[in-house]
Amino acid sequence: MQNIHATEIETKEWALRVDLAAAFRLAVHFDWHESVGNHFSAAVSADGKKFLLNPKWKHFSEIRASDLLLLDADDPEVMNGPEAPDPTAWCIHGAVHAAVPNARVLLHCHPTYATALATLKDPTIKPIDQNTARFFNRIAIDLNFGGLADEAEEGQRIARAFGNQSVMMMGNHGVSVAADTVAEAFEDLYFLERAAKTLVLAYSTGQELNVMSDEIAEKTARSWEDFSEASFAHFDHLKTILDKTDPSYRE
Ligand SMILES: [Zn+2]
Repeated sequence: MQNIHATEIETKEWALRVDLAAAFRLAVHFDWHESVGNHFSAAVSADGKKFLLNPKWKHFSEIRASDLLLLDADDPEVMNGPEAPDPTAWCIHGAVHAAVPNARVLLHCHPTYATALATLKDPTIKPIDQNTARFFNRIAIDLNFGGLADEAEEGQRIARAFGNQSVMMMGNHGVSVAADTVAEAFEDLYFLERAAKTLVLAYSTGQELNVMSDEIAEKTARSWEDFSEASFAHFDHLKTILDKTDPSYRE
């Protein structure tokens, strides 16, 4: 029985590895990647302390399921290995997985339009169309980025900044998105960047924005919640595109 249980865990972890590897490749497809930086992670253990993270300085376009590091937030020894992760990412992602219950998956990057919004004094995503309204009153805004004085403290601070939200605009920095599954986190990141693009283009006209009433924005955001299953259909479709072009993410 124990062996069957072990196999089940391995199968689950492998499926998570494949999905997370796909997310890296798809981030390149959508041009959200930046040099060999940024990090996506996924909790493996129930307490979130054991998690998968991309290896240091490996380009997103080359990441395979087997490349992902399995790390333990409580084991600083991982920093001594030849494949030591980026220490900041290990601290921040470890702290968020352990402290934020709905953060089984955490995607952090600097996509162009969302990052442009994050540089504004007010990075709020104003509800001006359906995509922007998806995030109405559903985003944490962290305006306290102050460099990394102490990595462990920064991890705790970021975990607290999420509050009870799962999408965070990080002032002067970028975005982080948390969810139960890779597909759901990816979908939020996809719509966040699309919403940011629309808002940045609307701002760039210099015309006054036609911001929805709170009531209509809230109604629209709630309607999106009925579409949550679409995340899985979209992510599956995106994986079939990868399968046709370069299925090596599954290795
Ligand atoms: Zn960053």
